[in-house]
Amino acid sequence: MIVAEEKDTLREKLKEIFGYTQFRGNQEVVIKNILEGKNTFVIMPTGAGKSLCYQLPAMVKDGLAIIISPLIALMKNQVDQLNAYGINARFLNSTLSKSEITRLKKDCINGEVKLLYVAPESLNKEEYIEFLLKTNVSFVAIDEAHCISEWGHDFRPEYRKIKTMIAQLGNLPVIALTATATPKVQIDIQKNLQMEDADVFVSSFNRKNLFYEVRPKKETKKQLIKFLKDNKGKSGIIYCLSRKKVEEIAQLLNVNGFKAAPYHAGLDPDVRVKNQDDFLNEEVDIIVATIAFGMGIDKPDVRFVIHYDVPKSLEGYYQETGRAGRDGLEGFCLMFYSHNDLSKLEKFNKDKSVQERENARILLQEMEFYAESPVCRRKQLLHYFGEEFTEENCGACDNCVHPRERYDGTEYVKLILEAVQQTNERFGLSHLVNVVRGTEDEYVKSYSHSELPVFGKGADEGADFWKSVIRQALIYQYLEKDIDSVGVLKIKQKGIKFLKHPHPIELARDHDFTTAIDEEESSERTPINSKAYDTKLFEMLKTLRKKIAKEKNLPPYVIFQDPSLEEMATTYPTSKEELASVNGVGMGKVQKFGKSFLELIKGYVEENDIETAADVVVKSSVNKSKIKIFIIQQIDRKVDLEEIAESKSLSFEDLLNEIENICYSGTKLNLDYYIDDMLDDSKQEQIFDYFLNSETDSLETALQDEDMSDFSEEEIRLMRIKFLSEYAN
Ligand code: ADP
Ligand code: ZN
Repeated sequence: MIVAEEKDTLREKLKEIFGYTQFRGNQEVVIKNILEGKNTFVIMPTGAGKSLCYQLPAMVKDGLAIIISPLIALMKNQVDQLNAYGINARFLNSTLSKSEITRLKKDCINGEVKLLYVAPESLNKEEYIEFLLKTNVSFVAIDEAHCISEWGHDFRPEYRKIKTMIAQLGNLPVIALTATATPKVQIDIQKNLQMEDADVFVSSFNRKNLFYEVRPKKETKKQLIKFLKDNKGKSGIIYCLSRKKVEEIAQLLNVNGFKAAPYHAGLDPDVRVKNQDDFLNEEVDIIVATIAFGMGIDKPDVRFVIHYDVPKSLEGYYQETGRAGRDGLEGFCLMFYSHNDLSKLEKFNKDKSVQERENARILLQEMEFYAESPVCRRKQLLHYFGEEFTEENCGACDNCVHPRERYDGTEYVKLILEAVQQTNERFGLSHLVNVVRGTEDEYVKSYSHSELPVFGKGADEGADFWKSVIRQALIYQYLEKDIDSVGVLKIKQKGIKFLKHPHPIELARDHDFTTAIDEEESSERTPINSKAYDTKLFEMLKTLRKKIAKEKNLPPYVIFQDPSLEEMATTYPTSKEELASVNGVGMGKVQKFGKSFLELIKGYVEENDIETAADVVVKSSVNKSKIKIFIIQQIDRKVDLEEIAESKSLSFEDLLNEIENICYSGTKLNLDYYIDDMLDDSKQEQIFDYFLNSETDSLETALQDEDMSDFSEEEIRLMRIKFLSEYAN
């Protein structure tokens, strides 16, 4: 059992070594499990912070942790990042020279190294096993564990031998990690590693900071350029289907003054590596790529991922969009969609076997449903991975921000469920549509389905309408797909209940990608919001970071990540201690890189006469300013106020007090996302007018005013903050 004291030590270690104040998601439970010496299986979406799950235990435990990782490029990158924290991590692979290997072995045997990254090929060698037997291995971590499974999307035969090799090293705890695991892959991994006993930790696949949008593929180049202009200087990836398209778009962007480079398997390897490095080192902002790009990349500050062409599967789409916003800051995922693309993709499959073609067709159909559906994108994606997202409105997808027209779907859902029942839960979507619409094809004839009571009852609506109803019934859990027979739909418990006691169900209309688009609607919403931090200082810090990165020959984010720079541009740290308290900055980084950043900030603060955190906050309550920064950042990310209060154990009242303080000390806060949900426009206007005409912003005066009697104290306070932010700050 872990007692509270130990828990605190883990947190302290987290801060001391990595500079983070809090664990994310499952990290802490996973780490505890590993520290208890248990086999552990971790499934976390990209960007959730898998690496820390083994890096921290490696530092806490005695001995050397071995990390098996499939990609040499990624290994170097991880080791660079760890070294920047002052951690002695190394890698062993074919790129090392003889003498480097000799030195590495010596250091490992002497116990100087804490983490050793190896490729599975290397572990295969007799001599390396002998060498590792001389070291004191603490545990083995297997990254990208789905590579073990043939059912995964990236099977690597050499991964199959891992278990045998580990066994030669003794009875060591094993931790397997992956970002994709359908149930089938998951079982495969555990079987292969003989760790059926492992504790499994599955995290939600919801990526809260990603915004999803699908737009019709019309005037796409124009739309693309406009989007990029609105997001100039940000890092992004644009995926295209063909090499030719990649070249074409990269050129188009260059001509239009953007720093972009192409990436695909047809390029000369040198050029490819250079383009990738240029992207990592911020020499270019945008990489235009086929899906060949991405596996080996974990650039944390990718701000957008655009699918210029429709991806082949929803799983691929999720993985690719997952490369945006790994650092937890905004990530915008935009897909251009057309039926034409789907037909093109179908044609690619024409030489495949019947079964393969059928599988590919089903994947494409999922893609089509996703794009055209009026349902929250997030809900759909999570549904696809077997997870239910229950929030009404996610607030971060096109379908939630601009909800589609709704209608009463009660009778329609009822008819579909009856059709499923009357056909004995043995048919799929198209057949059900034929039955309710009264279309007599061969199947209908051979099963005599024209004699069913439901036959033809829905003839007034078109086939697309009915497909949309069925898809929504699936997502809302009235129906489910049969696991054993592809395409067959069954009724869920919720559906049976509904048939017994129908209740109103609202459905929405699908997007119609065949008619002309409303130009205004599709171009207006770029989610990039105004910033609460000092953008000028932020840019200066970025420039400095780039300069230092160049000198040290490292990617910039290895020095400091964007969230840390944002925090510096909010709190203006001017001493080593203040800098070390910035999230993501440990003492190791302060020693290594701190000096020039502190100098820059000091100079900036003096020149601009800025009150720093140290000036404003009373010395004894350093934590107070941390809470303020946290609140500012969370509001910037449009997090619900209740959620913010909860995560800092504040009452709502306390949170409002903090927000008011922030506001009165001159920081603009944009609470529109919260206020708009609470008060309609006319009510907002009423309160706003009051403050515009009032002689004082005193709350008490406002509460006593007759015009304000309809409003709660909370509403008035929130509107006062809005008012102050817009006028006073
Ligand atoms: P994954 O391997 O799951 O895709 P990473 O391990 O690369 O994710 O982590 C993603 C990002 O999250 C990294 O930029 C990392 O620095 C950051 N991160 C990880 N853990 C934390 C934490 N506890 N607090 C803040 N940032 C974190
Ligand atoms: Zn949504």
